[in-house]
Amino acid sequence: MLSRGRSPECRRSSTQCPRRLKTKTRAAQRQAGRVRSPGGPGPLTLKEVEELEHLTQQLMQDMEHPQRQNVAVSESCGRCHQPLARAQPAVRALGQLFHITCFTCHRCEQQLQGQQFYSLEGAPYCEGCYTDTLEKCNTCGQPITDRMLRATGKAYHPQCFTCVVCACPLEGTSFIVDQANRPHCVPDYHKQYAPRCSVCAEPIMPEPGREETVRVVALDKNFHMKCYKCEDCGKALSIEADDNGCFPLDGHVLCRKCHSARAQT
Ligand SMILES: [Zn+2]
Ligand SMILES: [Zn+2]
Ligand SMILES: [Zn+2]
Ligand SMILES: [Zn+2]
Ligand SMILES: [Zn+2]
Ligand SMILES: [Zn+2]
Repeated sequence: MLSRGRSPECRRSSTQCPRRLKTKTRAAQRQAGRVRSPGGPGPLTLKEVEELEHLTQQLMQDMEHPQRQNVAVSESCGRCHQPLARAQPAVRALGQLFHITCFTCHRCEQQLQGQQFYSLEGAPYCEGCYTDTLEKCNTCGQPITDRMLRATGKAYHPQCFTCVVCACPLEGTSFIVDQANRPHCVPDYHKQYAPRCSVCAEPIMPEPGREETVRVVALDKNFHMKCYKCEDCGKALSIEADDNGCFPLDGHVLCRKCHSARAQT
């Protein structure tokens, strides 16, 4: 426990404690490098009392915050590299000591003592400047403070990397980007961009869980395999150029038999 044996009177007013004042006066004189006339201390001027108060306060602070005294005279400021005087208040941060006026944001120069600050490559930053250095999420525009997902050459919050159509999360799953580099889940991409079947008008896309699908192209049109059949009798047509294949007539998809029937009328 620190010694704080002074009476409340002493604390309130130094003039009520003459003995104490005398000793302190000498200390003040030494500090200021002044010499008094012989004959001992005379009455104190108001300025001297103020100096004294200040000195006492500093002493008390030193007792209350012993770490302030840890500043060795040889230690220098981490910013200006000038020595830190013992009596000078200093900031201990980032494993170094700084003059209070030297402990400033690396970017905007505002003083950081007593403030929240962030360390970036060993330099202190104020909160605002630190946030400015962070990459922004391509979806929500907010800085990414925690985990970052990088995809399509851009940065995202993991929860913000979603399908632009259905907004399902795409982290850890397959996705496809469109011409504008916007991510889509696989089903939505195909729904939007896959060629459509000229018979049923549905997109021709892989079944769920499958990578590929067969698209039949005939007469400059697209068909699902299952939709590629004779327009007249509904017979499924082979994609091979054989007897079971397509025998088109006037742009119609027909089997060989129905082709012949139409051709005769
Ligand atoms: Zn400094
Ligand atoms: Zn700043
Ligand atoms: Zn975001
Ligand atoms: Zn989707
Ligand atoms: Zn179809
Ligand atoms: Zn037919």
